[in-house]
Amino acid sequence: AAPAPAMAEAAMAARVPPDEDGDECLPQYRHLLSPDLLAGQVAFITGGGSGIGFRIAEIFMRHGCRTVIASRNLQRVSEASKKLVAATGQQCLPLSIDVRQPQTIVAAVDEALKEFKRIDILINGAAGNFLCPASALSFNAFKTVIDIDTMGTFNTSKVIFEKYFRDHGGVIVNITATLSYRGQALQVHAGAAKAAIDAMTRHLAVEWGPNNIRVNSLAPGPISGTEGFRRLGGKFAEKSNQFSVIPLQRAGNKTEIAHSTLYLASPLSSYVTGTTLVVDGGSWLTSPNSFSALLGIASSSAK
Ligand code: NAP
Repeated sequence: AAPAPAMAEAAMAARVPPDEDGDECLPQYRHLLSPDLLAGQVAFITGGGSGIGFRIAEIFMRHGCRTVIASRNLQRVSEASKKLVAATGQQCLPLSIDVRQPQTIVAAVDEALKEFKRIDILINGAAGNFLCPASALSFNAFKTVIDIDTMGTFNTSKVIFEKYFRDHGGVIVNITATLSYRGQALQVHAGAAKAAIDAMTRHLAVEWGPNNIRVNSLAPGPISGTEGFRRLGGKFAEKSNQFSVIPLQRAGNKTEIAHSTLYLASPLSSYVTGTTLVVDGGSWLTSPNSFSALLGIASSSAK
């Protein structure tokens, strides 16, 4: 017999893992995969002190991984690290880097290797973004986003390749976006930067595959409880009921992105390389791309 509607609803809700809005650890976590999936491994996560990167660090640590979380603001990553260690009982080393400055990455990777003696996984999550029409975007603003997202991903990948992955193999997951697939309005800077990273994913997968390095991209859709979502129109989407145009009828959450990243970083995806996993509830296929409607949120998000 078909389940009663209330039961069906409860079963459906159970399939969406819960999440916390701010940069806090999950109060409870139910493992869907073996808690020792990443046992003994070390992940280096840029942008790991906030948003999606923070939740990736937490979920990896809940699967036995030790982490390095690195971004510009040492206080931010240090506070994040304390929360992560308290919630998971795993080690987490917070380090300050600017992914635009290779020498800061070299110093951080040296310190990580000194502490943990290995790096198995690199998550390139550091990024900058804002909404702006191309006509109002300064040359410098465009360059800054390319520098952080695209150059930063290359710089970090190259340093870790040279210092560890070339000889030991490894896994790289680049966090990108679907912005360029349909030329998202007000996002030429981030769309171009992320499209270049998806290209880099394929180039590096080809060149570094023989070194036993897998390289993939993960492209999130609108993800609640993130800075990106708050800045890039979460309120607008809620108000104008834009979620109803998403095939799965809702925004995603950080735990869902972390779970898909866990898949790409773990041996579950041992034969997957050079590809982009879109984790967006089908959003890019159907969401409107209205320049004038988006201009409305551009001016309110600038406030
Ligand atoms: P977020 O919390 O703002 O994360 C960005 C992180 O990057 C911050 O921790 C920031 O820390 C770090 N960062 C920025 N510039 C840096 C630099 N020069 N060097 C080192 N670290 C730097 O945003 P999020 O929304 O969670 O986004 C995480 C990733 O998911 C990004 O790659 C984003 O493009 C992607 N994404 C997000 C969404 C979404 O809905 N939120 C959708 C699609 C894609 P510091 O300020 O301390 O440096």
